[in-house]
Formats: sequence, structure tokens, C-alpha cells
Amino acid sequence: MNLSYDIIVIGGGHAGCEAAHAAGTLGAKVLLITIDMTKLAQMSCNPAMGGIAKGQIVREIDALGGCSGIVTDTSMLQFRMLNRSKGPAVWSPRAQCDRTLFTLEWRKLIEANKNIDIWQDNVNGLIIKEGSVIGVKTRTNAVFKARAIILTVGTFGNGLIHIGRMNMEGGRISETVSKGLTEQLKEYGIVSGRLKTGTPARLDGRSINFGVLEEQKGDEDIRRFSYLKTSLPEKQLSCYITYTNVTVHEILKKGFQDSPLYNGTIKGTGPRYCPSIEDKIVTFQERERHQLFLEPEGWETNEYYINGFSSSLPMDIQYEAMQKIKGLENVKIFRPGYAIEYDFFPPTQLYPSLESKIIDSLYFAGQVNGTTGYEEAAAQGIMAGINAYLKLEHKEPLILQREEAYMGVLIDDLVTKGVDEPYRMFTSRAEYRILLRQDNADERLTEKSIDLGLATKERITTFREKSSIRKKLNEILNKTSISPDQANKYLKGKDSSILKQKVKLIDVLLRPEVALKDLLGLVDTEQINFQMHEFFSQELIESIEIEAKYGGYITREKLLADKMGRLDGIRIDKGIDFDSLLSISTEGRFKLKKYKPGTIGQAARISGISPSDINVLLLYMGR
Ligand SMILES: Cc1cc2nc3c(=O)[nH]c(=O)nc-3n(C[C@H](O)[C@H](O)[C@H](O)COP(=O)(O)OP(=O)(O)OC[C@H]3O[C@@H](n4cnc5c(N)ncnc54)[C@H](O)[C@@H]3O)c2cc1C
Repeated sequence: MNLSYDIIVIGGGHAGCEAAHAAGTLGAKVLLITIDMTKLAQMSCNPAMGGIAKGQIVREIDALGGCSGIVTDTSMLQFRMLNRSKGPAVWSPRAQCDRTLFTLEWRKLIEANKNIDIWQDNVNGLIIKEGSVIGVKTRTNAVFKARAIILTVGTFGNGLIHIGRMNMEGGRISETVSKGLTEQLKEYGIVSGRLKTGTPARLDGRSINFGVLEEQKGDEDIRRFSYLKTSLPEKQLSCYITYTNVTVHEILKKGFQDSPLYNGTIKGTGPRYCPSIEDKIVTFQERERHQLFLEPEGWETNEYYINGFSSSLPMDIQYEAMQKIKGLENVKIFRPGYAIEYDFFPPTQLYPSLESKIIDSLYFAGQVNGTTGYEEAAAQGIMAGINAYLKLEHKEPLILQREEAYMGVLIDDLVTKGVDEPYRMFTSRAEYRILLRQDNADERLTEKSIDLGLATKERITTFREKSSIRKKLNEILNKTSISPDQANKYLKGKDSSILKQKVKLIDVLLRPEVALKDLLGLVDTEQINFQMHEFFSQELIESIEIEAKYGGYITREKLLADKMGRLDGIRIDKGIDFDSLLSISTEGRFKLKKYKPGTIGQAARISGISPSDINVLLLYMGR
């Protein structure tokens, strides 16, 4: 067999599915090769999407025309808006999903795309000619040619699974490993490293005593991740909260001598912000208990995920400890927790387009770039899919800036600074948080999706309709005045100072205690009698309110972003000889040579490159 494609995507995880979907939708002939077609976009760890900063990423992927938001909505079991008590810049949607449904919904979307072929196989070699990748070879001896390849093999590259002293090869538990690719890439000078992650046991819900546990319900005000009119669940499933205790910790400690984390078997670095339970009891020795969440895995199953109890301790220790947890006294386990070590490729070896600096037309996306998380993987996937397509069309890559999207922050951090532990997104990584809100991802990115040709007709219509309502509403706020007679009763009720004369609606809205919905109800004007599209009115009202109340901060961040953007607009000549610039510090020169930043802005963000190094570069470039 010897077939040719425009783009081959290796791996059908979150990164691979988004990459294939984006490239296929743009018009490329795509082959998605994956080890097991029944596990497309499998949630390897907890069955949840979103959360702090990650929720914003899912909305951005959706705004750009990706599918993660749609799939999250259609497989949702429970919704919560995290950080509601804090400022809107950090409100983050999070959903529990039905794990099986999530995969099925992805498969439907991939199969609905006529430009994507699927081949179930294990790629074990790349075909590279004169510095460019031109195809792949598989374990069944199939050969496929392509003009660009996107590598998204996740945790499968030489994956080694640990449970106590037992270890075995595998990409996830009971799944095969990917071999050959790392070894070949190393021959071409691509550096690889090892990272580690872990997952908790899955429990049999029939054996959990939910009656003694604290119930955590979903929000009544359920929201969509997608900006499209996706279907949402009519009811939601609850999560339950329980805690470890001193006895549990003592039992777990008995297993430390057999723990691959503590006896030196695991060499890879793990995710600091997603520690195993053994890490938590060592790091926080003074803590007598740790919170655990029991999260449902699906509508049709009894399986529960025990969030917070990730472990690679021996199976009998995991089981014994768990039975001392309130509500789990008679628990039965479906699958034990485990840790996995896998290969990754330091992402400073990539251009911001995610194309390799070493092998032409080879793109890397997802966990292989040293990230952790479905959302981070999916974000890189859609960008790699778009950029591989653009390269085939001889067009400039799409590079999102740090002030445009968390996705821009993510990729800029990866390719500029690299990773020394699994990278996950936090709001604190973004300098322009008030610009990068979950409510305005479509305002930031959907025009780009339309320009690319990625947005569907439905998305274009929905976006345009919403934008026009937003515009009208803003006009009304800025043009319409409200009189003391109309406003004062309401303002008194809100403990807000009364009006002495007519003022513009926008000026009243700036007061923190005033809600836009109430304000519109006070003004008897024909103008606001336009049809507010019910499907997005609530979100739109919130968004406009945020923009009004935080207008000062938004303007300030925009100014800062513009300043930085100017530095990002100054390209560094690829042929520049940094050794000839004697005034640059030794460390600065070393980092410039190592990371080869494409712009002055990028150089300025590399740790070790000082402001005076940047000045030397600017002088050299005649600025
Ligand atoms: C045990 C475990 C625990 C985790 N814990 C967490 C956590 O706590 N928090 C968190 O945020 N994330 C966690 N993750 C990470 C999360 O699952 C990943 O970040 C995310 O799935 C990465 O997506 P991806 O698309 O890059 O790779 P994956 O989801 O791993 O998908 C890779 C895909 O590539 C396919 N593939 C692999 N090799 C080949 C090949 N040679 N040929 C063809 N197909 C191939 C596989 O079959 C798979 O479909 C965990 C992962 C694992 C395995």
C-alpha cells in the first residue's frame, strides 16, 4: 500500500483530532493514523474539560473553529463556572464529561469530515528526504506519503507504566506503546527527554456509600463551551467530596519502599500542580487530610474517578488505604492508579508555527511538546493543523499573540522558554488576563477563523448576529440618558448615590452595584426593543457589563500589549551572528544561539536575556 496525502496526523488524541479536523476543514487531504480508532480523543485521566485557564482555552479553540468545545457540551454530565466569586478575568468554565460519549462525539465529527481518512495502525518510522519529512511507515509495513506530518503521539513514546515495583511498556494502561520514532528523530539531531504523569484508580460506584458524603451539584445556570447552539444536558450528575485521614497516610507510607517515585525507578519529572497522593503527604507532612472528589465517568456506567488520589503505589496498598476513607469502606476498584514515563521533545526546537526547526514540514503538537492536559494538547493540535495547511498553501503561519489568546501564551512559552516539567496553563502565565476572558474568546478569534476559512456558515451567522447586537447595545449605553426619576428608586435600593441630573446609561453602569439587565428595564425606550437572541443574551449582557465596568483596566492592558506588540513586530534576522555582538552578555549570547528567537519580543521573554542585551540587538538592527 502506498497512498499520498497532503497531511498525515500521527495519533488520534486531543491534539491529533483537532489537527486533523482543522486541516481537513481547510481543504487538505488528511490521513489520521492512530493506534486504536475506538479511543479517539480518549480522556486518559479525569473525565473533565476546562477549569482555571483551561476553560478559556477550550472557548478559544471553539472560537477558532475547533471541536473540543462542541464535544464537551454534547458529552457534559455537570457544569460549574469556577472562580465566580472572583473577578471575571478568571471565571473559568469546567465540565465533567461522559468519557465514552466524548470519544464517540469526536469520532462522529472526524468521520463527518470528507477530507479525513482514518487508518488504525502504529507508525514506527518517518520517511525523511533532504531534510524534509515526506511520509511515514507503520508496524504493518504500510507506507504513506504526505507533504506535511503532524506528530501527536502523547504519552505513548516509549511509554513505561509503573504500579509499585511492577512496570510494563504501554502508552496508557492496557494500550500498546509507540517505538522507533524517538530513536529516529534523535539520529537527526532532535533532542528528547522523559517526563512522568500519573492517574488515580477508578472505583465501582455500586460499592461507594454516597449517603455519608458531601454532594457537589452542578451550577443551575449551565453554560456552553461552544459559541454555537450545541445541545446541553437536561439534568446533571453530582460529584461527591471526601477526605484522606491520618490512617490512610500511614498505610500509604508503608508502600513508599516499593514506590517507583521514591526508590529511584521513575526518572522523568512529574507535573508539580497535579501531584500524586504520595507526593502530597510527603510535601505537606503537617496536613492531616487531603480533599478528594469522586467524579462520575458516564451516564451509563457506575465508574467513578477519585480525583486527588493519583498514585503509583503497589495495588494492595492503594486498595487498603482507600478502604479507610469515609464512604469507601467497602469500595471495589475497577482499575488501579498508575504512573507513566514517556518521551517528549523540548519545544524550543520548534518555530512558533509548531514546525520543527530541524526537519522541514514536521510539526509537533500536544503532550510530546512537554505539556500536560487535554486542553493544552487540543490547542496545539488546532494550531499545528492550521499551520501545516498554510505552509502547503505557501502562506504565512497563524501565530497568535500573547494578548490575543491563552493559546498564544501557551505556544510562545513553549517555543521561547521550553519546559523542565510538564507544562500546564494557569491564568498567572498570561500578562493580559483581563483581555483573555472566557466570555470574549469569539470577539478575539472568530474573525481569524472566518478569514482562514475554518468557520462554518453556522458559526459565521451566529458570530455576526451576536456582534451586531453587541454593537447596538453599546450604542444605546453610550447615547441614551437616564433621568433621576427613572433611576433613583432603583439606585436607593442598591445603596447607590442618587442622580441629580440626567446621565448616560454607561456612566451609571460603571457603578459596581448596578446590573445592566436592571438598568435596561428602567429606561423606557423603543430603542432597546430589539430582539435579543435568547441563546446568547445572558452571556452577552455579562460580557458587555464586564467591558463597561473594567474598561479602565482593559484600556491599560491594551496599551501595554501594543507596546510589547511593537517588539514582537521586529524580526531578528535568521543569519545574525550573535558572537560578533560583543556587548551582549555571555548568558544572553548563549540563550540567543540556543533558542534562536524570531522577534525582539520573543528574545525579551527568554530568561537570561537582559534588557541591555535587547538594547544591543535593537541598536544592531538600526532601531
Ligand atoms: C496516566 C495518565 C495520567 C494523566 N494525568 C493527567 C492529569 O492529571 N492532568 C492532566 O491535565 N493531564 C493528564 N494526563 C495527560 C493527558 O491525558 C494528556 O495531556 C492529553 O491526553 C494529551 O493529548 P495528546 O493528544 O497530546 O496525546 P494523547 O491523548 O496521549 O493521544 C495520543 C494518541 O496518539 C496515538 N498514538 C500514539 N503513538 C502512535 C503511533 N506511533 N502511531 C499512531 N498513533 C499513535 C494514541 O493511540 C493516542 O490516540 C494524563 C495522561 C496519562 C496517560
